Amino acid sequence: MTVNESISDLPALRERMVEIGRLMYDRKLIVATEGNMSARLSDGNILITPAGMCKGMMKPGDLVIVDPQGRRIDGTREPSSELKMHLTALTRRPDVGACVHGHPSCATTFAILGIPLTPEGVPEFDTTIGSIPLAPYAKPSTAAVGESIAELLDNTDAILLERHGVLTVGADLDSAYFKMETVERFAEMIWRALSFAGGDMPSPDELDELFDLDTLPATQAPASRRGGKRHSPPGRKHGV
Ligand SMILES: [Zn+2]
Repeated sequence: MTVNESISDLPALRERMVEIGRLMYDRKLIVATEGNMSARLSDGNILITPAGMCKGMMKPGDLVIVDPQGRRIDGTREPSSELKMHLTALTRRPDVGACVHGHPSCATTFAILGIPLTPEGVPEFDTTIGSIPLAPYAKPSTAAVGESIAELLDNTDAILLERHGVLTVGADLDSAYFKMETVERFAEMIWRALSFAGGDMPSPDELDELFDLDTLPATQAPASRRGGKRHSPPGRKHGV
């Protein structure tokens, strides 16, 4: 599938971006005027959310179109202040059709603490999102944010921005948004696991008990868990 093939016409893509903004706001992945999204168009231009506006209350006409250099070519509002970060991601990754940035509370707490999230030992996240590295702190809305994520993006679709928030990318808007949901879900579960374990990362066997996947019907369990035992995860090195 080519980028954003699932929504090929501009009006439908605008509607979808508005809808995802509402979802992000309703699910508290963003509050107030936080967060931003972008989607690559078939002509190479970029549809992006406006600056200074609640993304849960946008209308399709509030969205802005910029060219690949970031110059506004359609819309009356200013493009997102994180435009440079989006341009970096879309330029560096030709396979990426959309980017989503938010400040989900659990994942951002790990970002504030400077702790990357490593789903090793939790197969359902390991296989869907993979490692979520930490990009070094860069002042929000500056070109430094793009520089901080550039190399990391070569190997991941989800990044914690130190002391800031989360960036996810995908082939299309839905894919990038679902990864944002998944990062926050994983952060929430690790938070709870750490609480149960008194601050220490549970062992793989303890994770088995905490997430209790063996109680799932065999047809709902991840393939690696069917038959009782999970495959042995690689050793945990950094992060949680
Ligand atoms: Zn932000």
